[in-house]
Amino acid sequence: MSDKRDIRSLSYEQMRREMEIIGEKPFRADQLFDWLHNKKVTDFSLMTNLSGKFRDKISEKFEIYCTKPVKVLVSGLDGTRKYIHRLHDGNVIETVLLKYDYGNTVCISSQVGCRMGCRFCASTIDGLARNLTAGEMAGQVYSVENDIGERVSHIVVMGSGEPLDNYENFTDFIELVNEKKGANISCRNITASTCGIVPKMYELADRKYAITLALSLHATTDEKRRQIMPVANKYSLEEILDACRYYFDRTGRRITFEYSLIEGVNDTDEDAQGLIRIAGSVNSHINLIPVNPIAERSYRATGPKAALALKNKLEKNHINVTIRREMGRDISASCGQLRRSFINDTDTGDQNA
Ligand code: SAH
Repeated sequence: MSDKRDIRSLSYEQMRREMEIIGEKPFRADQLFDWLHNKKVTDFSLMTNLSGKFRDKISEKFEIYCTKPVKVLVSGLDGTRKYIHRLHDGNVIETVLLKYDYGNTVCISSQVGCRMGCRFCASTIDGLARNLTAGEMAGQVYSVENDIGERVSHIVVMGSGEPLDNYENFTDFIELVNEKKGANISCRNITASTCGIVPKMYELADRKYAITLALSLHATTDEKRRQIMPVANKYSLEEILDACRYYFDRTGRRITFEYSLIEGVNDTDEDAQGLIRIAGSVNSHINLIPVNPIAERSYRATGPKAALALKNKLEKNHINVTIRREMGRDISASCGQLRRSFINDTDTGDQNA
């Protein structure tokens, strides 16, 4: 591992300034940005319209922090692809491609691991290893595009990690992929999910990006939420919902509430009433997601019948709600489970994993 900077994390403006610093012409910034963010090459040696001398000069200072696919699982049912990407320092992360009618969606990780401690989530079991750079977040999208030979139109920041716990890199990433001279992905096609880091929700709202904010709700009282999400000890639901209302006021974007259904824990009648109360007080949409059980915990998913009954009850009360369709059922490991099994397999010497 070197201590060179990640060139893919530089905004176009920063790239221009860097060229000035090293005494190069401004058009060099355009060329580099084009190679990195349009042609999406991952090696300076492939930048064929740049002289060897210039490439050497750049690589003295910078590196392209790689996101190298080292394992890909492909669903035979719906074309979902789950990737393990290896980073330049040897860490590995998960990325998922979801093929929808409206386009290709990539679900990216925002950190290596996570320190939020949600009880039902595999990503957080070993804590946080490090933050991802903006370039490493974008690199996951580009790597998938290179793999499938198609453009990605939508991004969801719902893989491992808490984006608002890596706020600067996360917002740099939004601006990077939104850049007209680069990937040019519309903010309207980007969704970021948070467990509810209130001060950062306000900061994000003030940036007025048109991205959708998803809030991991998962419980409708502070007491219950604290049992499954330690972050609830820091911020109350009322504070979080105020921040959600502020987000809508500033951006005009409806909040998505994510609600992972855990049998006997958050799927009772009382919970339904709580959801009606909460969703009725925020311009929002609820996504019900049967929890994906993880080996390390005993939580079970609410069954399909009970999930449907809950959905109907909410709809009767004029709440916008969908049950999230499960993608890639035949390659089911996700939410940090694929990464954990990959690391465990390689630790025990199974290099083919
Ligand atoms: N840190 C962010 C984003 C990461 S996870 C957040 O908390 O929102 C994206 C979503 O998947 C979150 O709603 C998270 O609570 C949910 N999730 C995590 N593990 C899950 C599991 N095993 N089953 C269902 N949903 C899960």
